[in-house]
Amino acid sequence: MPRSPGCCMMRSALTIVLCAVALCAQAQEKPVACLAGLRTEAASRGISADLTPDPTVLEALDNQPEFKTPIWDYLAFLVDEARIADGLAKLAEHSALLARAEERYGVDRHTLVAIWGVESAYGKAMGTRSLLRSLATLACAGRRQAYFRGEFMASLKILQAGDAQPEALVGSWAGAFGHTQFMPSTFLRLAVDFDGDGKRDILNSIPDVIGSTANFLKRAGWASAEAWGYEVRLPPSYAGVSGRRNRQPLAAWAAAGIRRADGTPLNGPGDAGLLMPAGNTGPAFLVFRNFNALYSYNAAESYGLAIAHLSDRLRGGSGFATAWPTADRGLSRVERREVQQRLVDRGYDIGAVDGGIGPITRAAIRKFEATAGLPETGRAGGRVLDALRR
Ligand code: CA
Repeated sequence: MPRSPGCCMMRSALTIVLCAVALCAQAQEKPVACLAGLRTEAASRGISADLTPDPTVLEALDNQPEFKTPIWDYLAFLVDEARIADGLAKLAEHSALLARAEERYGVDRHTLVAIWGVESAYGKAMGTRSLLRSLATLACAGRRQAYFRGEFMASLKILQAGDAQPEALVGSWAGAFGHTQFMPSTFLRLAVDFDGDGKRDILNSIPDVIGSTANFLKRAGWASAEAWGYEVRLPPSYAGVSGRRNRQPLAAWAAAGIRRADGTPLNGPGDAGLLMPAGNTGPAFLVFRNFNALYSYNAAESYGLAIAHLSDRLRGGSGFATAWPTADRGLSRVERREVQQRLVDRGYDIGAVDGGIGPITRAAIRKFEATAGLPETGRAGGRVLDALRR
């Protein structure tokens, strides 16, 4: 890695990383030494890998969709018709394996397949970045260096154990990998060899994927045969207790005028919390302890709801009874690609038509909205799609 006196003048990848996180002058020596240290750690274990920093990893760190996307966009993307259909096919294809996991870990097949579908579209989107390179970047720059250093060291242990080869150990920008996107430290703690070949392999073995995911949920407190929760109806202008942690007995919720969405009395395995992800006029949910196990898989309530709702759809359930409080609905993956294709057809540059709504697509949407007399949001929603179809 070359050194330079002027941080933001230097055009190396490392400098872009540094400038991206505004650490420029005072910190420029530290990441160089940090990366050299990680390279030494890897070499001492007989592992050689490209540990040059990847600036796009830090951009992704500051743009996590669970926290910035409207809930209706997030759920429309993660629980679309294609993901439901693909999940039903996986339930049929892996029926015997899923039955074995249910018996061993007490986690139902619909929940396991829902996690698989949300995490990687059933193995179609596991990420292609070198885990060592992403984790080395995040361990030496950015907001959570100590955490990612631990994950880097964990990935070295996975390689040392022979569970994967360095070039095959690829995943998301944040270092999650495999069909159900375990972090390396999670893999070390909780992955299981469920096909009995002596290796834990969540990149290639579907039995290991299903067993490891079931083991994760069991260890996170999953209670066999209990519901995660269900949709409820709130009384008009409800302004009472809510929040995942503010659990109350069902009798207290009933006394507050809350009913199941289908009108039946509240029932369930214990105290529940009330989620109102879009306020008191959108869909609302009572959630039990199994929802907390889903939450522990990825600490975002929107994520937990996506898994929970997809699992319900795989059981044959329908969409939410209450509509999201928006006139601009979220889009499925097919519809997102349609937005991109229609922008291309109109001469806009959006990069690749891949359904990923990134900065280039958002800029094109803004330009289109301006010419169409729509508010400039840059968001791929129902209003933009309808206007593009006209
Ligand atoms: Ca195995």
